[in-house]
Amino acid sequence: MPSQQFTQSDPASQWSRLNDELDRWQAAGLTASFWWRDDDAVSDGPRLAKLVELSERFHIPLGLAVIPATLHGSLQQPVNSSSRVFVLQHGYAHIDHSPADETGAWELGLHRGLKTLMDELQQGRATLLQTFGDRFTPVVVPPWNRIADELPPHLAQAGYGGLSAFGENALRHSKAGFKVTNCHCDPVSWKRGGVFSGTASTLDQLLDRLARARANPEESTAPTGYLTHHAVMDDASWDFTETLFDTLNRHQAARFLAADQVFSP
Ligand SMILES: [Zn+2]
Repeated sequence: MPSQQFTQSDPASQWSRLNDELDRWQAAGLTASFWWRDDDAVSDGPRLAKLVELSERFHIPLGLAVIPATLHGSLQQPVNSSSRVFVLQHGYAHIDHSPADETGAWELGLHRGLKTLMDELQQGRATLLQTFGDRFTPVVVPPWNRIADELPPHLAQAGYGGLSAFGENALRHSKAGFKVTNCHCDPVSWKRGGVFSGTASTLDQLLDRLARARANPEESTAPTGYLTHHAVMDDASWDFTETLFDTLNRHQAARFLAADQVFSP
């Protein structure tokens, strides 16, 4: 089909929107940095292997958010033998402890008291350190991307190096020695039961964040985060992920941060 007949719904014209935005970064003398997080890892399997294969094929570091309480020993080998996977702590057990009148699921709220919460997190941290050694980065990824406002200072005090949730509040809890690096783009439509959100709407999330960061020097240095969920993603979400990685790798104004840069102070 000739390019002039493309409509907004054509995948090719959608992907050209991303290239156009990256061209703007390049024209401004800027580099857009990215990072990749995948949530809910507990064990090895074909989907986990696919993640690691993508990380290797595209040379992209993968921040794997692992649930400590349900961790299966099979996850140790693929993580520790990969060259680019680093482990983050996905809460403790990924259990919703919010009261019935609370809207939405919440593990890292203060409903059970700070001590219980911190004890669980420290226990989970010990498990991940024991299993993954220096592949584990002591950073908390709150289940459902939700965390009590009071908690980050306690995490910092307990020796965590940062946290990662979702959205624009990347700098809200950041302070010396505690880095908040969020994700901004998720290809999965949770409202529609975990299917792919579509190329246009997923790219909208990415382009919104990129345009905002380009206009704001403070935000432009924080990486744009891409979030996957290997356990639920359909073929279309995986295909989008591959095209995204390929597109970003080909553009001179885009780069993925090295694993040790994502949460470096
Ligand atoms: Zn999760």
